[in-house]
Amino acid sequence: MISFDVPLAEKALIAEIRRMAMPSGQRRRAGISVRITHSAPAVLTGIGDDCAVLRVPPDHQMLVTTDFSLEGVHFRRDWHPAEVVGHRCLTRGLSDIAAMGGEPLAAFLSLALPRDLSQTWVRRFTHALIGLAKQFGVTLGGGDTAESPNGILADIIVVGTVPKGKAVLRSGASAGDRIFVSGQLGGSAAALWQMRKKPKTKLNVREYPRHFRPQPRIELGRILRERGLPSAMIDTSDGLSTDLAHLCEESGVGAEVEAELIPRASVGKPAREVDIEFALHGGEDYELLFTAPATRRVPSRMAGVPITQIGHITRRRKILLMDRAGIRRELQPRGWEHFRR
Ligand SMILES: [Mg+2]
Repeated sequence: MISFDVPLAEKALIAEIRRMAMPSGQRRRAGISVRITHSAPAVLTGIGDDCAVLRVPPDHQMLVTTDFSLEGVHFRRDWHPAEVVGHRCLTRGLSDIAAMGGEPLAAFLSLALPRDLSQTWVRRFTHALIGLAKQFGVTLGGGDTAESPNGILADIIVVGTVPKGKAVLRSGASAGDRIFVSGQLGGSAAALWQMRKKPKTKLNVREYPRHFRPQPRIELGRILRERGLPSAMIDTSDGLSTDLAHLCEESGVGAEVEAELIPRASVGKPAREVDIEFALHGGEDYELLFTAPATRRVPSRMAGVPITQIGHITRRRKILLMDRAGIRRELQPRGWEHFRR
């Protein structure tokens, strides 16, 4: 009857999300082969009860990760369409599961929305988030909604599983291990840079896929774990320099990285390789950064994603960057938090 785009009442919003979250019978996984190791449903009771009831497959452990997506911090409504915000919101959680070599099972979403936010925005956001979830066989198992006094806040929790004792940690790297990264780096930060430089111009989403439609490396993470290749692993959410520092700190080691070897994303039209600073410090690429013993052969492509060796782990607890001339300087972890300012 009323066709104005009015905000959705909480009850109606939950009912709508519940309907969208229903398993669609046959799960679509557009072009991505995600192997379901547990055929029985993981969420026994989902939205509608006080708690979700999850089934943990025998001989598995649970993985839980939580990530905020805050308006003005992680996205801007004038730069990021609602679908992009929804997609990226879930990607943050899925990427953490990938970094442990895990299999995602269920997601939980808490939303605080400003009173004047349109139904259309919420629908597009939720639709994209649930679409990505279904692509990976993940059920939206619950959440919460509230009114936000200022801006949109979305908190996503993703639960996954990994065979007992097989989670790939940040802490397993040893001196002599080689350092690898999947895909290319810097593409996401380059998009942000462009939007900041020209706030009025709309970027073509397809020219900056890693920023607007990042695909979490779930399949790659699982294959790596199954082959027992990584000694340590982390996803590049904060930027290479910061994420490598996290991994080294947890492992009690240092690293030496060759600038020339770092795979840089190509963005824009005509496509151009991003500046090395973007690849070194730009975050939110959601690639996998891992180490493997020098005795293990690591393929140059896995799960359809290029794998590049960028350096090696050292005993000395410093992170060094070697330039083209062979000159080494210390690589400060000036990742995302610093970079985005
Ligand atoms: Mg992470």
